Amino acid sequence: GDFAEEVDTLIVGSGPGGYVAAIRAAQLGQSVTIVEKGDIGGVCLNVGCVPSKALIQAGHRFHEAQSGDDMGIKAENVSVDFSKVQEWKSSVVNKLTGGVDGLLKGNKVNVVRGEAYFSDRDSVKVSTDEYSSQTYKFKNCIVATGSRPVELPTFKYTKRVINSTGALELEEIPEKLVVIGGGYIGIELAGAYANLGTEVTVLEGEERILTGFEKQMAQLVNKRLKKNNVTIETKAFAQSVEESEDGVKITAKVNDEEKTYDADYVLVSVGRKPNTDELGLEQIGVNMNDKGIIDVDEQCKTSNENIYAIGDIIEGPQLAHKASYEGKIAAEAIAGEASAVDYLAIPMVVFSDPELASVGYTEQEAKDAGYDVVGAKFPFQANGRALSLNDSEGFMKLVTRKEDGLVIGAQIAGPSASDMIAEAGLAIEAGMTAEDMAMTIHAHPTLGEITMETAEVALGTPIHVT
Ligand code: FAD
Repeated sequence: GDFAEEVDTLIVGSGPGGYVAAIRAAQLGQSVTIVEKGDIGGVCLNVGCVPSKALIQAGHRFHEAQSGDDMGIKAENVSVDFSKVQEWKSSVVNKLTGGVDGLLKGNKVNVVRGEAYFSDRDSVKVSTDEYSSQTYKFKNCIVATGSRPVELPTFKYTKRVINSTGALELEEIPEKLVVIGGGYIGIELAGAYANLGTEVTVLEGEERILTGFEKQMAQLVNKRLKKNNVTIETKAFAQSVEESEDGVKITAKVNDEEKTYDADYVLVSVGRKPNTDELGLEQIGVNMNDKGIIDVDEQCKTSNENIYAIGDIIEGPQLAHKASYEGKIAAEAIAGEASAVDYLAIPMVVFSDPELASVGYTEQEAKDAGYDVVGAKFPFQANGRALSLNDSEGFMKLVTRKEDGLVIGAQIAGPSASDMIAEAGLAIEAGMTAEDMAMTIHAHPTLGEITMETAEVALGTPIHVT
């Protein structure tokens, strides 16, 4: 239409940043319109967190079914019907995206399907198709357009040169897969396919995989991947690919030596790029750096008073829960509340084997920040529950301030690390000490006791290690 529609709060993008911001803004009494050009739920629900965890779980089931020997369980002729796996994965995605759709409606959020472009400092033009568009004039706007996979010039995406989205949508389990990039997305997918029987090779440019995590933690994952037939090449730089009808041949420089790898597919997972280049934001004066990351203050406000930015398009780790957290802060800031971001207790998780999780400071980071700290460590092997799960490789580390025992960080490598890290996050957020954690009665036998015992190590009084 020709006439601009007026809205209070306009949100661009319905990923975990945008949809959460929309709901919080509606809860705070704003009239909210959310614009989405793709699928409701963004990357996370459709082609990220959720489908990848479903695929990882299918891999675990299959792998476990074949490896019950220790416990005396023999399962013969275990097989995977991969189309059924994909069907199930889609059903999980659909339940969640349908749920988000329902939540938006339930909160009276107006959902507009189309691509948004900033035509002015207070309006966006939404193209619904080639011929029609509608302009929306907003009081405030929250930009939550997320990110997309980086494309390497020598590895243009094709049928067999794929990114994470392609890797989640394969129709058959590849016999051989090369993964370029040993960050968390590459490692999670490498692990999932290795568990499903694929022969995987990871090419990582650095000296080790998962450089965002402590070396000792990454080494555990490295070891497990190798045990699962994954070849990990470090200091390896993929250079080119030749694609044929039924496969790819990748050439890489590994420790300055040229090597080639044959595979069915090559997955390129070398990072993600913010979707800020086709929005018209620069023309209306919104500041961003040369990588397209938007500058924001502690309320997620950009250089334009009435425009906020959240999630993968601003500084910091590209994680769904960070996007959602920022979405709430931005919505509250628009409502005039004094909310501001505090990133200390944002957990980082890799759903690898074993799982890795970290929140707050690592021991080294705390030292670098000038803290005098105690770094306490407790092994999963000393925990009854972990042993009875037949999954006892790993450890927890707790970082506390020496002077008063304040908990300022935790790292966990082991089964359920992704869930266990929440308790450490709560301790940091609530300003608890190692003593508070150690004095909290934890049910026996549970993995949660590891948290209590690591705190006891910090206090110098552990029961189950000497
Ligand atoms: P997005 O989820 O990217 O959503 C942005 C939305 O904006 C999209 O739907 C897009 O269509 C829409 N959009 C863009 N431009 C426009 C426009 N001009 N007009 C209208 N709409 C537009 N994070 C975790 O925390 N845990 C995990 O386990 C995890 N696993 C992952 C696995 C994979 C394979 C990948 C790729 C990512 C994973 N992530 C994970 C990262 C997580 O998906 C992102 O951090 C998160 O989705 C970012 O949320 P967002 O709201 O910023 O943007």
